[in-house]
Amino acid sequence: QWSDARQGLKKAVGAGNYRSWIEPLELENVEDGVATFAVSTAFVANYVAQNFTDQIKHACRRNGLAVDRLRFDARPDRVPARPQPDAAPAEPAKPRDAAGEDGFKPDSRFTFDRFVVGKSNEIAFAAARRVAEGGQVIFNPLFLHGGVGLGKTHLMHAIAHEYRQRHPDKTVLYISAEQFMWRFITALREKKMIELKQLFRSVDVLMVDDVQFLAGKDSTQEEFFHTFNFLVENGKQIIISADRNPVEIADLEDRIRSRLQCGLVVDLHPTDYELRVGILQSKIEYFHGIYPGVSIVPGVVEFLAHRIVSNVRVLEGALTRLFAMGGLVGRQITIEMAKDCLADIFRASDRKVSIDEIQRKVCEHYNIRLSDMTGTKRLRIYARPRQVAMYLCKDLTNRSYPEIGRRFGGRDHTTVMYAVTKVKELMTTDSAIAEDVELLRRALEA
Ligand code: ADP
Ligand code: MG
Repeated sequence: QWSDARQGLKKAVGAGNYRSWIEPLELENVEDGVATFAVSTAFVANYVAQNFTDQIKHACRRNGLAVDRLRFDARPDRVPARPQPDAAPAEPAKPRDAAGEDGFKPDSRFTFDRFVVGKSNEIAFAAARRVAEGGQVIFNPLFLHGGVGLGKTHLMHAIAHEYRQRHPDKTVLYISAEQFMWRFITALREKKMIELKQLFRSVDVLMVDDVQFLAGKDSTQEEFFHTFNFLVENGKQIIISADRNPVEIADLEDRIRSRLQCGLVVDLHPTDYELRVGILQSKIEYFHGIYPGVSIVPGVVEFLAHRIVSNVRVLEGALTRLFAMGGLVGRQITIEMAKDCLADIFRASDRKVSIDEIQRKVCEHYNIRLSDMTGTKRLRIYARPRQVAMYLCKDLTNRSYPEIGRRFGGRDHTTVMYAVTKVKELMTTDSAIAEDVELLRRALEA
């Protein structure tokens, strides 16, 4: 199963990344939703975790591995070290790592220099720069929100770089909300809560990425709240990101929601055409350094900026693939070549699955009426398809829980959350459901 998942990742990460990072991964085991991989060094573990976690999880799930979390263990005995590829230039040793042993290294590609500024992100950029200067804390927290792939993580890493450069004696800790939760759970289990509290409370700047993940995680929220308050009261800077505004994060305690809003809340809007052209141009410069032999014909940039509107990550992925292809076959990158080798990206970018479509397909599949799907009947023959449809809506659209609930006859967001959890769980225990979901997903994505 892992070999299939791994194969599937080739497309997702591009050939170069695949060879350097994915191919050498050895799956050790999957236990309680945690997949453990052996890798050659701690550096590789870090790099893969920071860069490919989402894709790997996705590929695993698609290939029947029930995985919620990934672990990468440095096991030089199992996986021999390989020469490190150019894509990850070694960072100069930092005088002091964030929070001592924590070992967070900002991604060296994510700097302010490399962030292209346009109308949609100029305020977020300016706020991030201001916070990175340090000095007196004015916005606390700085709350960055915006859709996936619009540069939230990039800006947070950029703040870390800049802040560390200006204040080498201070500590900066960046952590995703998901890691925060796992650290917390592990500390509880291993009775190391005091150490963990000390760790978080000893930093000068704390960044928590993707806090929407804390929705519904009550005790983690509680811990987060105390950490947050402690740091704010002690004049430490906090930076938070989420995929939506604090008001729209369902299942977040009110006191946390209001805390999150009391600093500066700025959003990153979807990119416009000019910004996409700018981003492509700056990335092309970078790729020319890696693939000096490959040239790109005029018009390709404009073509890509028109055709790929989803997010910057996809835009970058497209370029990576084109340059890799160009490098392999030693030719110019032309519009024809782009059409050919990016067909799947264009398809995905053209087609946004709608809630209507999902409801229709699911009704068809289970042979029930649309009114039964959105109605109040509680019989399993209606309830199950309804839950499957809600799950697919969450998975395939970027609608929020409350929005989805509304479209299912005005149900509460907690009902949708429950349905999503339920279906996830069923997919691991009931192969018929797992199959239904996969069939439907394929039909909807086709
Ligand atoms: P998010 O955290 O909002 O989902 P990321 O920060 O991970 O998004 O950005 C996705 C990718 O797009 C990263 O490789 C990042 O460097 C790139 N990116 C996003 N916005 C910009 C920008 N304005 N200029 C340059 N690169 C960008
Ligand atoms: Mg991010």
